[in-house]
Amino acid sequence: MKVFIENPNLLIAEFNEIAGIVQKKAFITVGTEIQKEEVETLKKYREDLKNLKKDFVSRKLENEANLVYCLDNSLLALQCELEMLICLKEDKMDEAWAKLVKAQVVYGTVIRNCPADFQTPNGYIERLNQYEKLLFPNLFFHSTGGIIKKSHCSICGQSLSKCHHIKGKLYMGEMCTRVITEMELEEISLVEDPANKLCRVLTIETDGRMIDILTLREIKVEPISKDLADSI
Ligand SMILES: [Zn+2]
Repeated sequence: MKVFIENPNLLIAEFNEIAGIVQKKAFITVGTEIQKEEVETLKKYREDLKNLKKDFVSRKLENEANLVYCLDNSLLALQCELEMLICLKEDKMDEAWAKLVKAQVVYGTVIRNCPADFQTPNGYIERLNQYEKLLFPNLFFHSTGGIIKKSHCSICGQSLSKCHHIKGKLYMGEMCTRVITEMELEEISLVEDPANKLCRVLTIETDGRMIDILTLREIKVEPISKDLADSI
């Protein structure tokens, strides 16, 4: 059980209220303009949360700062879900996919880091997975392999093998990540279950035509201009 100096219950109640409102609007039938308005409301509230986190950090209240990280990222996942629905209705399919993947990644960090008593309703990640299955075709992805030459810890800047931070854990409201600054690419392979679902195959070639995998529309490839060809 984590110890909180500041009572988090009020903050959690406020979060639940906002999340409840957003979830009522996270259906494809809801008016696009209403969803866009909700996205703006969420962005404003998340700004307030960021300021609150700064205040906690300045007072060295780590559990409180980490909780705000989780609440903020839960709301970011909901925001991405709304944005995905808006993109689908506006025929922006690449963006819709990117928003769904962002929601999954962001909510994944919440699940891994949030104290169990403050988890948002279970099954949210399942909801996102259902979107993936029902709304998008089966996709193929690329996976890159290589040797990492230079990397450092996002929290302290040292090599992760030298510092005490653990990748994927929260420290004072920030997630520790490995920042790769130099990598030697060895291979790119085609996979079905990638580390990064944004790294996907975008087009297929059939009968000499380039087809967008999401929309099945033909992509017109502009011939490279002479100036550009010369500069390569
Ligand atoms: Zn570190």
